Amino acid sequence: MTVRSYVSSGTTPTRRVTTDSASLLAEYLKTQINFPSCGTRASAARHFLYWLQQHRLPLSQVDAAVVERFARHRCQCMGHGGVRYSPRELQRPGYITNVGRFVIFLEDRGTIRVPEDLAPIALRLPAYGNHLVSLGYSRGTRSMLVSGAEHIVHWLRLSRISAQNLDDCDIERFAKHDCRCFLCRKHGAPTTFGVAERRRAGVTFLQYLRACNLVPERSVIDEDSRLVAFRSWLTHQCGVTKHTAVRYLAEAARWLTALGQDPGTYDAVTIRSIVLHQPSSRSHKSVQLTATVLRTYLRYLAANDACSPELVYAVPRARRPRNAALPRFISPALIERIIASCDTNTPVGLRDRAILLLLARLGLRAGDVCELGLADINWGDARLRVDGKNRRAAQLPLPQDAGDALLAYIEQGRPPARDDHVFLRVHAPFKSLKPSAIACLVARARTRAGVEGVPTGSQVFRHSLATSMVRTGCSLEQVGTILRHRSPNTTVIYAKTDIDMLARVAQPWPGDSSC
Ligand SMILES: [Zn+2]
Ligand SMILES: [Zn+2]
Repeated sequence: MTVRSYVSSGTTPTRRVTTDSASLLAEYLKTQINFPSCGTRASAARHFLYWLQQHRLPLSQVDAAVVERFARHRCQCMGHGGVRYSPRELQRPGYITNVGRFVIFLEDRGTIRVPEDLAPIALRLPAYGNHLVSLGYSRGTRSMLVSGAEHIVHWLRLSRISAQNLDDCDIERFAKHDCRCFLCRKHGAPTTFGVAERRRAGVTFLQYLRACNLVPERSVIDEDSRLVAFRSWLTHQCGVTKHTAVRYLAEAARWLTALGQDPGTYDAVTIRSIVLHQPSSRSHKSVQLTATVLRTYLRYLAANDACSPELVYAVPRARRPRNAALPRFISPALIERIIASCDTNTPVGLRDRAILLLLARLGLRAGDVCELGLADINWGDARLRVDGKNRRAAQLPLPQDAGDALLAYIEQGRPPARDDHVFLRVHAPFKSLKPSAIACLVARARTRAGVEGVPTGSQVFRHSLATSMVRTGCSLEQVGTILRHRSPNTTVIYAKTDIDMLARVAQPWPGDSSC
């Protein structure tokens, strides 16, 4: 399939559209005469035209939905020479594919109008291939992504979706469509990729089209101007990080509709119900996040005189008593076993080992690891600059083994990319990691090391470091400095983990019996 075949000859038909089915079929037949299956293709087109006429559907309205209706109809149509079409014909794998060919013929002929702004997208396909080369994609992945992009263009034309209206929901629909597209067929059998590959191809192509300004930038969150203003306030007034802003906005988007358009009409009952009436599937942490974000949102509105400041106190407290549970930690021996499970002969192993050592030795958060930049490493003084929460930068000493692992990764494992982040994906596009990727690599390392029945997540390294520091005699103040806690109260919880010290200060139970 060449690019040229996707490009409509223009929205204005070059010839007068004929309504005579016979002459239309004859015209189509001329274009197919050199193919061995010419007769089958013509028969499918004739059947389709007959069905359209029976349902009084004009040719100009034919799209993916009409073809789908045709594919599912209970056939009692009368064929050539008064012989009925066989309903079994419709079930043949290549039958609807042949109808798709006829629809493309009608599109190219100008009988069916396709959105004008799809033509520049189709012309971009060769440049898209070159773009993928520059990003470092392997040949196999490139081939999948380019054929996926061709498939999208074909599907967009058939679905009559213009580039102006294209968004993420359309990509999801594309990924899940019941594919009978003729360019994904070879001898009638499907050659198309699965839903996951189609989704990946769609997302990657949409990102490219947005970067080229061929498709407008749009997201669910950006559509609401209140959230755009809230993000700006969070970023510029509160100094929150990009990841925190994303979490807060996603949470606020859940209940903004329930809250109403006019902040002047907000009342305590609505505010309380947002926190208290939540699905039972939501965890305590999630409910806590709702309360925190709602409180922050109301503070933001109050700061802009949009609502009464007292409303902030209407948000119920959704938290457990402070320090109710012990921090979850694992023993230093198991930590070392998890770190040792990385295969340092591979780029992934080098990267994962460096990350695990930073988590274990410095107690970095997953977000800190993701945001770490090459300029944040001071090799001369063996120091690491970490931004941390609320962009409160701190300088941490870089331990020898963590520094060695970092150097080995940068020299031997890090892909050549323009990105300034230290840790990058090992496959193209070589983007920085997300916190969820850190959790995944920790889980993989635990499985490799055969460590089971211990707390999960990357945060456990942070808790384990603090616990072992307390148990080896470090003061809570020192622990708080390493963990970069703003308040000493946050560090107090680790006092509970020093079981030996607690046993020494415990008083005997009064009386002979505890009952
Ligand atoms: Zn029929
Ligand atoms: Zn398809």
